[in-house]
Amino acid sequence: MAIAQSIRCSHCGAPVEFTPGEIIATCRYCGFMTVIETGQAYNFEHALLLNKYDEKRIEEPVKSWMQSGFLKPPDLARKAKILEKNLVYLPFWVVSVEAKTSYKGIFERITPPIVKEGRIQKEYNWLVLAREAAGFPTREYDVPLEGKIPYDFRKIEGFAKVLNSEIDREEALEMAKQQIEAHHRFLLQQELDRIVEMSTEFDVKQAVYLHAPVWFIKYEYKGRSYQLLIDGATGNVIKGEIPQKGFGIF
Ligand SMILES: [Zn+2]
Repeated sequence: MAIAQSIRCSHCGAPVEFTPGEIIATCRYCGFMTVIETGQAYNFEHALLLNKYDEKRIEEPVKSWMQSGFLKPPDLARKAKILEKNLVYLPFWVVSVEAKTSYKGIFERITPPIVKEGRIQKEYNWLVLAREAAGFPTREYDVPLEGKIPYDFRKIEGFAKVLNSEIDREEALEMAKQQIEAHHRFLLQQELDRIVEMSTEFDVKQAVYLHAPVWFIKYEYKGRSYQLLIDGATGNVIKGEIPQKGFGIF
C-alpha cells in the first residue's frame, strides 16, 4: 500500500490526502480540485454521476444478476454470501471528439483484388479511466452521461471512497486519440484484408473530468470469492465473475 500524503486544499485549506502518482486531488470538504504538484486550483469542468443505491439496496441488483442467465449455478443467489460492498467514485476523462480517418487498403477476398479508399467519420464521448493501474473494464462500461451534474461534494456518501486522477487532461486526450485510432483500425480490418495507408484527424470539442459511482462487490460461493462491479447510477452490472463449472464446485 502506498502511503498517503497530504496538501492543503487551495480553496478551504482543509487537508487533502493523496498517494504518490496522483495528479489532481478533490477536497472532501468543499469539492475543489487541486493540482498536487503545484498546489494550484484546477479550474476545468468537473462532473459527477449520482449514486442511487445504499448498502442495503445494492443487494437487489446483485441478487437479480445472480438469478439470471443460464451460465450461473442454479443455487447461486441462494448460497452466495456478500462479503464486501464498497462504493468507489472512479475518476474518468470524457473526451468529446470528432475523428476522421482516411484510409486506403486492399480487399483480397475476390479476384482480382480491389483497392478501396474511404473515410470513417464518427463522433465520440470517449471514456478514459484516470487511473494507471486499475483493471477496470472501461469498454464494457456504458457511462450514463445524460445523468451528469456539476460535481457536488455534498452528494458523496460518507462511507464512499473518491479516487483522484493519476492522468492529466493532456495525457487523457492522447490516450483517447490512440484508443480511437486503434478502434478505427479494428473497424477497417473487418472490411479490408490489408491496410496500406491510414491517418486520423481529431477535433476535440471538450474533455470533462468526471467521477462515477461504482460498487465493488465481493461475494463468496462454495468457499471461493468473486468480484462484481455495479454501476451505482443505473444498477447495471458492469462486469461479474461467475463460478465456473469444472472446478468441482458445481
Ligand atoms: Zn477544500
